[in-house]
Amino acid sequence: MAEPKVANAAEAKIVKGNAAAAAKAATGAFTPSGVSPSRRSRHKYTVRLWAVRNSRFLEWFYNRFADLFLLLHPLWNAIGYGRVERPVTFVERHVKGFLFDCRMCGQCALSSTGMSCPMNCPKQLRNGPCGGVRANGNCEVEPDMPCVWVQAWKGSQNMTKGDAILNVQKPVNQSLRETSSWLRVTAEAAARREAQAKEKQA
Ligand code: SF4
Repeated sequence: MAEPKVANAAEAKIVKGNAAAAAKAATGAFTPSGVSPSRRSRHKYTVRLWAVRNSRFLEWFYNRFADLFLLLHPLWNAIGYGRVERPVTFVERHVKGFLFDCRMCGQCALSSTGMSCPMNCPKQLRNGPCGGVRANGNCEVEPDMPCVWVQAWKGSQNMTKGDAILNVQKPVNQSLRETSSWLRVTAEAAARREAQAKEKQA
C-alpha cells in the first residue's frame, strides 16, 4: 500500500512545480528557454504580489528615487555614464530581481503596469494579456503563476498615474537588454531638461 503513495507523491511533484523545470518539461508542458527555474519559484510570486498590492507606495518611492538620480546627474556625468553602468546595473538587477522578478529588459515599464513586470509573461506581451487567462486569473502557460497582466491591471488601479496602463508600449528593443533603466531614464530626463533650458534662453 505504501508504494503507490510514493509514486503518486512523485507525480504530484512533477505536475506542481514551475521550480522543477526538467520535471515540468517531462510532462510535455511548455518551459521557456533562458529562464532560471529558481527565479520562478513560488516565494517570488509572493514578493511580486506584494509589490502589486503596494504599487501606490512603490510609485511614490520610485518618483523620489528618480528625482534623486536626476539630482546626481552631474556626478554620473563627471564619472561617465558608461563607467557607472556596470555597478548600477548590478544593483538594479538584484533589487528589481527580488521585488519584481525583473528580467533586465532595459526599458522598464513598471510605472505603467501596476508594478507587475510584463517580461514575466511567458509570451512577453507588453500590451495586455493574451486570450488565455485562466478563470482563476492565472497564466495558461504557467498554471500556478498569476497572470502578470491581471496583476498589472490590479496594481494600476491603486496608482496615481494608473491610466498609464492604457498607453501603447513599444516593442522591446533587444539591444537594451542587461542595461540599466535607471541610468537611461535619468540621462533622458537630464537631456530634456537641458533642451528646455536652452529653449527658454533662446
Ligand atoms: S519591465 Fe524590464 S526593466 Fe522593468 S522590471 Fe520588467 S524586465 Fe525589469
